[in-house]
Parts: sequence; C-alpha cells; structure tokens
Amino acid sequence: MTHMVEIRDLHKSFGSLEVLKGIDFTVDRGQVICVIGPSGSGKSTLLRCVNLLETPTKGKVFVEGLELTHPDVDIDAARRRVGMVFQQFNLFPHLTVLDNITIAQRRVLKRGKAEAVRVAEENLAKVGLEGKGRSYPAQLSGGQQQRVAIARALAMDPDLMLFDEPTSALDPELVGDVLAVMRQLADEGMTMIVVTHEMAFARDVADRVVFMDGGVIVEEGSPDRVIGAPEHPRTQTFLRRVL
Ligand code: ADP
Ligand code: MG
Repeated sequence: MTHMVEIRDLHKSFGSLEVLKGIDFTVDRGQVICVIGPSGSGKSTLLRCVNLLETPTKGKVFVEGLELTHPDVDIDAARRRVGMVFQQFNLFPHLTVLDNITIAQRRVLKRGKAEAVRVAEENLAKVGLEGKGRSYPAQLSGGQQQRVAIARALAMDPDLMLFDEPTSALDPELVGDVLAVMRQLADEGMTMIVVTHEMAFARDVADRVVFMDGGVIVEEGSPDRVIGAPEHPRTQTFLRRVL
C-alpha cells in the first residue's frame, strides 16, 4: 500500500547548522500524527519539508507515492494536495474572508467565481463561521482568523493537512474552538500532521505521537505510550515541563 506521506533519511541544513539529521517516518491515509518537542528541535522545518517550502539537503519525501524531491516533479501540482495552517494565520489583511478563501481556488484551481464562493461558504460553515464572509480579518478574533485559515486550506480539497502550532498564538479561551474544528476534521478521516503543545489534544486525537529533539525523532508510538509512559529521558524531561 502506498503511504500518504513517506519520509526517508531527511536532512536539512541551514549553512553549517544541521537542523534535521535523518528523519524517517510514514503517515497512512486517515491517520493523525502529532509532532511534539522542544523549541528549535526542527518541527517546523520538518513540516515545511513535507510540502517543499524548504528544500531538503538530503533524503526523499513522497506524498501519495509521488517523490516531491525528484528534480522533474511538478512541485506546484504536488503542493496543491497539501494544505498548511501556520501559527500566524497568514490571511491577507486587505481582503475579506470570502476573498481570502476564493483567491487561490480561482488562481490555482481555476474555479469560476460562483463555484469558488460556494466552496468557500461550505467550508466557512464547516469551521463554524457561517455568514462571516464579508468581514475583514482584523474584525475577527484570533480563533476566528485561524478557523478562516483552516477553511481556506480545506477549500483547495487537500488530501493532507499540515498544522504548525495552530493554537500557539491564541488567547487561551480561543484555543478550544480551533481544536474542536481540527478534531472534527480528524473524525471525518482527514490525514493530518499536527505540530502542537496541546498534549490533551494529542492524547485524544493522535494515532501516533512523534517526539523530536535536536533534529532527530527520539521516540514515537501511540499517545498512551509516548505521552503516558515515555521511555526516553529526553521525552520524560520535555513532558515534565509541558504537562
Ligand atoms: P521548531 O519548530 O521545533 O521550534 P524549527 O524547525 O523552527 O524548530 O528550527 C530548528 C532550527 O533551525 C532552529 O535552530 C532555527 O533557528 C533554525 N532555522 C529554522 N529556519 C531557519 C532558516 N530559514 N535559516 C536558518 N536557520 C533556521
Ligand atoms: Mg516551530
């Protein structure tokens, strides 16, 4: 069976700084993987290598069997299957919510206006923001903006969603709504790689938890194993700090 994501011996250096030192893992369709680990351990770089926002120094990345690291690959076409949600929502401040969600559909997928609007409204409803299409990002709370960012990614019909600390920039009382949307997506069978410090979410939702430190995967397994009964001293120390 073809894995949804397969990463083989992935290395990434910035100048002389080796940030990823040989990462191997796979994600199967419908799985939710939570990546945890201290700041600077390479979690964001790993996610960014999965959709080639960063070019790996060495190693291979496959998404649905297609090698993204192959020199001949149509990287834009490959990237279209992968949605990404960032800590800082990255909405266009001068565009309405609806325009934020339709612009890539129209430019990249060449959807007509009516269809793009229909898909946008469908996804706004899905993230609990029905009727907010005419608002500007600054008129929304951080949690609402992040849900717009999720709707924008979903409107592109991705096969895989990457989340990089999607709730880390939010006031605590706004975190729950965003996690609820992500939980619903997981329940619907979306394949997701989620970098997060929300251990309760990881415990409940993840099929597998990956603990990274110093550019390597230190341990991985079921949430009950990795969060509930970590084997490695580095995992134990990290969890003592965040739990
Ligand atoms: P995490 O997301 O786990 O906090 P990152 O992947 O953001 O870790 O960063 C890992 C290391 O790589 C850090 O030391 C960071 O400073 C460095 N780094 C990340 N991106 C760049 C870049 N574009 N140029 C140079 N160094 C970078
Ligand atoms: Mg990061």
